[in-house]
Amino acid sequence: MSLIELAPAHIRAIAPYQPGKPISELAREMGLDEADIVKLASNENPIGASPRALAAIENVFMELARYPDGNGFELKAALSKHLELAPEWIVLGNGSNDVLEMAARAFLEPGSSAVYSQYAFAIYALAVQAVGARGIEAPARDWGHDPVAMLEAIRPDTRVVFIANPNNPTGTLVPPDALEAFIEAVPADVVVVLDEAYYEYLVPELRGDSLALLAKHPNLIVTRTFSKAYGLAGLRVGYALCAPEVASLLNRVRQPFNVSSLAQAAAVAALDDEAFLTECLSVNSAGMKQLTEGLDGLGVEYIPSYCNFVSCRVGEASAINRALLQRGIIVRPLAGYAMPEHLRVSVGLESENTRFLAALAEVLGK
Ligand code: PMP
Repeated sequence: MSLIELAPAHIRAIAPYQPGKPISELAREMGLDEADIVKLASNENPIGASPRALAAIENVFMELARYPDGNGFELKAALSKHLELAPEWIVLGNGSNDVLEMAARAFLEPGSSAVYSQYAFAIYALAVQAVGARGIEAPARDWGHDPVAMLEAIRPDTRVVFIANPNNPTGTLVPPDALEAFIEAVPADVVVVLDEAYYEYLVPELRGDSLALLAKHPNLIVTRTFSKAYGLAGLRVGYALCAPEVASLLNRVRQPFNVSSLAQAAAVAALDDEAFLTECLSVNSAGMKQLTEGLDGLGVEYIPSYCNFVSCRVGEASAINRALLQRGIIVRPLAGYAMPEHLRVSVGLESENTRFLAALAEVLGK
């Protein structure tokens, strides 16, 4: 008997998440110099981390023999001040991925179901599958979430609805008024997980007021991250905002020391560095303009994006991806999302976007 058979069927059925290829791996595979590789595959912040966050980490070096504060007192206090929300409404995660999984573990079990959209962030399906619950995929509209189809997909055994706003990998947005109507319409005994990993990239008029929604809907969990606009993906820190009752459930399935001391210190400092965040957002919007204009120039169709990446339709995406890799450019093919003609490209620095566009032009013979 194989040990694999000891695992429950729902675990055996999991196809693991495919992350973007690390720079070091491509360098090894292709015999390339790491410095010549451009990685636009994981929606990382091309500027890096805030200098204040880096300085804050240094102060923690001498304390590394100690466990982190398992309750994240200082980071919760900083978030509480920043968001004007009591700390009891905040649950910290090892990246926002961690809080998404906590929501699945806290509310789902075999025999229950969760709804998410076609083309929604892949982790929802995995988190649901890992706890033996059933995933229900609602059809997308124009690559984005269709709130009506999602409502129709809810069944009597549905306990959780996941919605990424804006969504990865499509970059699409459900506008604030439609989002609010959707949350109003979800039955009160179904938990809505509103994943706002790319929230900071939205212009203020499109951000909506998720905190006001939280006050009105005790079944709402809003998740955010320091991985994207704040440039701390490598440290793994994100958070959930939810009613204290829900927070107490998430905390039951949370690892006691899930956010490292380095991550906590860096996140506190990053929150305080508004100038750095503003600079990152402006580099992103300039880079998005550069990329989309470049794609227009190549006659390549793309899905208009509200994030720090754009998904473009290149045709034979896996072959084109291979040719880009040979040229030292890492982007993300989306075959795993049943989008075999698309590549997702993260917005990089101007020089990185230029490298990508030139390589794509060459590969497409334009
Ligand atoms: N939600 C969405 C929509 C994402 O794209 C990502 C990152 N790819 C995450 C959540 C998780 O990011 P992290 O765990 O780094 O916060």
